[in-house]
Amino acid sequence: ARFTGKVAAVTGAGSGIGAAAALRFAAEGAAVLVSDINLASATQVAAEISKSGGRAVALRTDVASESDVAALVDRAVAEFGRLDVMVNNAGIGGLETSVDTIEDAAWRKLMSINLDGVFYGVKHAARVMKVAKVRGSIVNVSSILGLVAFEHAVAYTAAKHGVVGLTKAAALELAPLGIRVNTVNPAFIKTPLIAGLEEAVLPLHPAARLGTPEEVAALICFLGADEASFVTGASYLVDGGYVAK
Ligand code: NAD
Repeated sequence: ARFTGKVAAVTGAGSGIGAAAALRFAAEGAAVLVSDINLASATQVAAEISKSGGRAVALRTDVASESDVAALVDRAVAEFGRLDVMVNNAGIGGLETSVDTIEDAAWRKLMSINLDGVFYGVKHAARVMKVAKVRGSIVNVSSILGLVAFEHAVAYTAAKHGVVGLTKAAALELAPLGIRVNTVNPAFIKTPLIAGLEEAVLPLHPAARLGTPEEVAALICFLGADEASFVTGASYLVDGGYVAK
């Protein structure tokens, strides 16, 4: 299997895209740190992995807290001896604000999770990979809104564009060490994050449907695997043709 002997950590892994990625890494042989701010949901996903014979640990990580993210990465090393793949996936939605009325608190909250959270994940994964000389892979979950924009989503769009820039800068620094950093950029994916938006956004997709968490997980796992060894500093759409239109 692609991830036999490897260790993957996924943030926001209690639901949606993160859960699908955690399940797939485990199914392909990785030991997985299933982390989420919601420990109950992370515990459920980890139990599902254990039930099918995989190795997983659940833990509570608020990605807006640097010490939480540092502890997640250190736990990977303490529990499984190494960290090969870090998936910075945790995020919140934010499509209901106007640029002239968005409150500072709403902007800060979104940035602290969707951008600071990815920064902490990249920083601490790079820290342990560097020390252990692991030629690892860091996969950051951006969005189509990391490349194009959406009205009433100024903070979300800014954070997801920020993730793309952070990814490129980190990739340049880490490339000589064999550590790769990339983003996935999904269009609208059927998860609790977009509850209530499905009908409005479906026609925006040339594929005439929304994506599934499994379709994003497939791309995350490709970027996490050694077969993507020459892929770094890049952003990959998984969008049913959304941006091509
Ligand atoms: P989801 O709501 O199903 O899952 C997100 C998970 O993140 C939840 O389990 C939640 O508890 C967790 N979380 C929230 N705040 C957290 C925090 N501070 N620390 C740690 N965990 C936290 O959503 P999803 O659709 O699977 O989203 C995953 C990622 O994909 C997000 O970054 C999102 O922006 C991105 N994304 C989603 C879509 C979509 O249409 N669903 C499209 C593009 C990008």
